[in-house]
Amino acid sequence: MTKKMMGAILPGNSTVELREFDIPVPGHGEVLVKTKSSTICGSDIRCIYHEHLGKGPEGYQPGMIAGHEPCGQIVEAGPGCRRFKQGDRVILYHISGCGVCNDCRRGYMISCTSDQYRRAYGWQRDGGMGEYVLAEEKDLVFLPDELSYDDGAQVACGFGTCYEGLEKIGVSGNDAVLVTGLGPVGLATAMLAKAMGASKIIGTEAIDERITIAENTGLFDHILKAGPNNVEAIRKLTGGMGVEKSADCSANNNARLTCIQATRKWGKIVFIGEGGTCEFQPSPDIIHYQKTIYGSWVTNIWRMEELVERIVRWGIHPDKLITHRFPLEKVSEAYALMASGKCGKVAVVFE
Ligand SMILES: [Zn+2]
Ligand SMILES: [Zn+2]
Repeated sequence: MTKKMMGAILPGNSTVELREFDIPVPGHGEVLVKTKSSTICGSDIRCIYHEHLGKGPEGYQPGMIAGHEPCGQIVEAGPGCRRFKQGDRVILYHISGCGVCNDCRRGYMISCTSDQYRRAYGWQRDGGMGEYVLAEEKDLVFLPDELSYDDGAQVACGFGTCYEGLEKIGVSGNDAVLVTGLGPVGLATAMLAKAMGASKIIGTEAIDERITIAENTGLFDHILKAGPNNVEAIRKLTGGMGVEKSADCSANNNARLTCIQATRKWGKIVFIGEGGTCEFQPSPDIIHYQKTIYGSWVTNIWRMEELVERIVRWGIHPDKLITHRFPLEKVSEAYALMASGKCGKVAVVFE
């Protein structure tokens, strides 16, 4: 008889449904992972929870177990696995690609070009909001012993995405860094920027609860309530010059403009937050000041491997940014809280 497990699906009407599923059996090159921690991403709320908005790579297939930030332990390895085995602690890179297109060969399965084989966990294949998750071996990253399963879940999407953005603009001890939008992605960006050596970190945020959470992390030198005077204030905090580097994690039009205008001449800006729009005047805002704007989408799997190694070396713990934990039975409350925005990172934890 097939063994059963519970998993959460998102019908798209701001509710969560717990259903019974068969526990999958790993086939060739696949493993069965016992889920230990599974965090909720802003994109789950934006594209799935309230309404099924996404198309293509952001298209949620109704009835799929949600959650693309899982971390757990392999309980069974199928035939043909080459590197990973039963008992290994693993993070899932959250998109399974075809493995042979140019993007997959670069490690960016996020942008795999195969319509047939590209399937993201929690979107087009079952994800981490279930007691077990079936994964392809090639999508796994070892979770070092020094890191907790909650640390690993944070790396699966959020920290990887933030690290990629910071690597694109390059952050070192030379830099004052501005982070706009202090939700989970903004906090992760600040934690990594600090670990990478940034000598001053300034944040802006509109929601009071998030300002308080950000203050409590101790990651920021200055936190400003989002508003029309932010650019002037940030220049004052940086000798009148502006920051060297900035990262938008808000997806807000005004905050993105703040990022651009509060960055000094020759500075670099990265847009990480998804959706929305951005209006700016190319000549006075970027061209005449030799500024560069980068877009950054998720990360690649080799960088994720390097990131976990560095997180251990830096002695930081991404799980510190988790403000709320729920068991699977209370998964509805977890999504509702995340949708309210009045929280840091929200995790569903098992056992
Ligand atoms: Zn995500
Ligand atoms: Zn591919």
